[in-house]
Order: sequence, then structure tokens, then C-alpha cells
Amino acid sequence: MSFLIKRKNTRRIMVGNVKVGGAAPVAVQSMTNTFTHDIAATISQIKRLEKAGCEIARVAVPDQEAAAAISSIKQKISIPIIADIHFDYRLAIASARAGADGLRINPGNIGSIKKIEAVVDCAKSYNIPIRIGVNSGSLEKDILKKYNGASAEAMVESAMRHIELFKSFDFHNLKVSIKASDVHRTIDAYRLLSSKTDLPLHVGVTEAGGLYSGIVKSSLGIGMLLAEGIGDTIRVSLTRDPVEEVRVGYEILKALDIRQHGPDIISCPTCGRCKIDLFDIVERVEKDLSLNPKPVKLAIMGCVVNGPGEAKEADIGIAGGDGTGILFRKGKVIKKFPEEKLVEVLLAEVEKL
Ligand code: SF4
Repeated sequence: MSFLIKRKNTRRIMVGNVKVGGAAPVAVQSMTNTFTHDIAATISQIKRLEKAGCEIARVAVPDQEAAAAISSIKQKISIPIIADIHFDYRLAIASARAGADGLRINPGNIGSIKKIEAVVDCAKSYNIPIRIGVNSGSLEKDILKKYNGASAEAMVESAMRHIELFKSFDFHNLKVSIKASDVHRTIDAYRLLSSKTDLPLHVGVTEAGGLYSGIVKSSLGIGMLLAEGIGDTIRVSLTRDPVEEVRVGYEILKALDIRQHGPDIISCPTCGRCKIDLFDIVERVEKDLSLNPKPVKLAIMGCVVNGPGEAKEADIGIAGGDGTGILFRKGKVIKKFPEEKLVEVLLAEVEKL
């Protein structure tokens, strides 16, 4: 029995050539951590992100030099680029002129309505969307006072205030995010926001942490929202190489059966019955296939107890024996191989598919 997720039908926007919202596939985003003015390093990182399946890249624009760099970066990459702006609205305008495919502004720190209107006028003339990126750490003072802190309701009020403001400028090319660093508040805020607007939502748990806590918080926060049909683009936030963010993003989508991308590897935890070095085999296979976009289901099992059963459901599988392994393809036993051949044989089978 499959678990069907009914996605909320949000308004469609385009970020460069990527469809967002309105039943488009949930897009995986990441953000570079190079200095954006270091054009070569930023291009190289975005190319690595592209290879991992990243569909939209955000770059920090802290100064005019970074904004100007966007035009050279754009020439060498093939995914859309979003300029991330804080404090200075002029950087948003400079980024749009340099060819950014979208702008992300934090309404809590961009300043007066006049400044926001100038950004909107610019986005209109370049026909690019704006993401209103509300962050629990930078809400407007009056809202913080009203709610006695950055509660989910406070974040939603900040978002709705800016959505209304943008609408008053007759600007609807919008996406909204409303991130907090804890899972409960993030989920509450997105649920509430989703009930109040049909704009596409960018979902993530901000400043989620290092690898373990980041993966767990993001998987829970993003995963629970996606399971409720909320979320049009996602970003996993990790204090790591952003390529890892993309990998985790796809793992979340695969686990929920929302999108297929790259191999789905099922492997057992091993126990006293396992007589091959399964940890090493799984690690080597994962590493080799980490950037392979082929949606193949692999089962790598330690013994014949559950091994053949699981392996049969997969496209390709192995079940370990005593220093050996049986290879299965689409449920059929192909051959027995010595342990040291198993990785090679499995990878060759993936190639053939
Ligand atoms: S598949 Fe075999 S080795 Fe792996 S956990 Fe199950 S019984 Fe143990």
C-alpha cells in the first residue's frame, strides 16, 4: 500500500527555467559557502552542486562586488541563481541587473517601504521572483513585542505583512519561507502560513547544525511538512559542504516517495549471522554512486535470512554468505561471487541497467 501525499496546489512561479509551485516537482535548493566575489570558486562549487542534482543555487550578496560577480558566474553555470540580500536594498537591485534569476530578501532587515518598493520595481522590470525570507532571528521589533518573542504566530504575521505589502505594489511573483532553528516552531509556522496563502513555500529548518543534528532536524521538519503536502522547494541546512545538503534533500524526497533521484540503497544493520564486511561494501557502493542520478533500488544484505527476500524486491541485490555473496537481478539469482568481487559486480550491474 503506498502512502499518498496530497500536495497543496500553490501558485506557479518560475525561478529561471525551474517551475516552482502549482504541482511542479518539489525542487532541491542549496546555498554556496564560497565568497561570491571569488568567481572561480563559486562557479566550481555550483558545478559540483549541479552534479549532485541541485536545481536552484543561492549565493550570498553582502556587497557590490558580490552582486557584480553574478553576471560572470551565470555564464558558466546551468541552474538558476538566487541573490541572498540582507540590509541593503541596493544590493538586490545590483544583483537583478547582474542577471540573478531571483532575489531573496529578509523583510525584517531591509528597511523602509520605499526601499522595498524600489526592489519590487526592479524585480518587475527584470521579471524575476522575490522570496520573502522570514527568519525567527530577525523579526520586526513591534511584532516581537506583540507576541513576546519570535513565536510561530509572530513569524507568520511578519510574512503576511510583507505579502500584503508586495500585493499592494501589484507584485505576485513571490515565494515565501519562514524558518526557525527548532523543528516545532518551524512546522507550526509553515502550517499556519500555508493556511493563509497560496503562494509557493520554500521549506527548511534554518541553522540546523552539523551533520547529525542537521540531518535529523531537517528530515523531521521538512519531512513532516512535505508529508502534509506543504513545500514547493526545500533546502537542507548543514554546517558542511553544500553538496551534502543536496544529497540529504533527495534522501528526504525519496524516503517519502515524492521524487526519485539516484540509487535507493537498502542495507541491513548486520548481526551475528553476517560473515562478510558489509559496512565496507555499503560504504564503497554509496561513495561510488553518490552522484549517480540513476533511480535504481539496491539491496545489500548481510546474510540469507532476510537477504534474498529484500534483494528480490530491488532492481539489484546481494545477500552475503560465508566470505561470499549471491547476486540477484530483478528477483532472480544470477551467481555467487567471492566477497572481494561483490562491489565491482554490483556497480557493473548498475551500469548495465
Ligand atoms: S540480513 Fe542477516 S545479517 Fe543482516 S541483520 Fe538480517 S539476519 Fe542479520
